[in-house]
Amino acid sequence: MLSLEQARDAILAEIMPATATETVSLAQAHGRFTAQELQAQVDNPAFDNSAMDGYAVRAAELVAAGFVLPLEGESRCGDAPRKLASGTTMRIFTGAPMPQGADTIVIQEDVKRDGAKVIFPKSVQPGSHRRRQGEDFRRGDRLYPAGRRLSSYDLALLSAAGVEEIPVYPRARVLVAATGDELVKPGTPLRPGQIYESNRLATLWLLRELGMEAVDGGTVRDDPAELRAWLQSSAEYDFVITSGGASVGEHDLVKQLFAEIGEIKLWKAKIKPGKPIAFGRVGHRAHFFALPGNPVSSLVTFKLFVEPALITWHHGNPRLPQLAARATHDFRRHPGRTEFVRARLAAEDGQLQATALRGQGSHMLGPLRETNGFIRIEAESPGFRQGDTVLAIPLSTDF
Ligand code: AMP
Ligand code: MG
Repeated sequence: MLSLEQARDAILAEIMPATATETVSLAQAHGRFTAQELQAQVDNPAFDNSAMDGYAVRAAELVAAGFVLPLEGESRCGDAPRKLASGTTMRIFTGAPMPQGADTIVIQEDVKRDGAKVIFPKSVQPGSHRRRQGEDFRRGDRLYPAGRRLSSYDLALLSAAGVEEIPVYPRARVLVAATGDELVKPGTPLRPGQIYESNRLATLWLLRELGMEAVDGGTVRDDPAELRAWLQSSAEYDFVITSGGASVGEHDLVKQLFAEIGEIKLWKAKIKPGKPIAFGRVGHRAHFFALPGNPVSSLVTFKLFVEPALITWHHGNPRLPQLAARATHDFRRHPGRTEFVRARLAAEDGQLQATALRGQGSHMLGPLRETNGFIRIEAESPGFRQGDTVLAIPLSTDF
């Protein structure tokens, strides 16, 4: 059976990255993946300007004039640069253009005004409080490579750089369905043997959080004809994700029909929870993930395999950040599979603490109330001791 890393590498190697691109405006680009390198359209700062409210001078003239200069004119934000008349100083404000000929700003707190004269301190540092054109970035500088998912911060930089049209990869269209005869929608009373279906909504919203176009494919019965028809209709999507029916029971039809209609590239990985996972293709386009039905297994395999696959499809870098954390207690287990234990991560005095939550059964949803990460335990490890350094995978930043 493949290890976690082998399974992940095998899946990523099978992804056919997006080829189509589209152009969106900057205001629509949040969370999108760039399809081309983006370059600055202007220098920043675009012109030399003042970093403070104060007075613009030529430092050499100031010394020659005995640190007193007549005031002449002002430079305000939005003005075109003016010329500093020789032997004078000009009022200036933060962000306003340096007057031609001026090289230094003296901050207003350091001067005295005497009618039309300005009295300066005798300790002016030539060149101070001057922002130079292009000191931040220059027109033509490469700001982002292709495959970058644009954050809110990126939008600030791109705005300043005058980039308005952004070539991006389309959002992957992802079809999601739950499978199982026992599954009922919340809102309907349960009959004996039935349970409320819980994987589909979570998966749809995990996808939307990643910026994908997630389509609700409903709940499909464990009926070969129904499942076959559903699978055949899924081939036009970029990704298809099902939960349930991926194991070896007679009623685990997803894997059987997937093998019949599509092509399975990989089945099972040595991880806990989430061993029965099938990955492959349906038709020429759709990447297919048959995830386990157990709710926790479905969420773990989404994080470990589906998320990096989607990012790879968008030409992004599928990293899974793992942080060192201190275990708050002992945790013993049987070695064999790489395990992902649902955990509460907490930052205490600059140190990340990790607590494995009670109730690790892959059918148990209760601990999700407190889960904000996983603790990763290597396949051959018998667990950890209180105070050990463990690897934590954050699922959110609320620690
Ligand atoms: P399966 O993978 O179909 O063998 O299902 C494994 C376990 O997960 C069974 O206990 C199912 O009832 C449960 N299960 C399957 N799909 C879902 C779902 N969408 N929501 C909640 N539980 C599920
Ligand atoms: Mg089932």
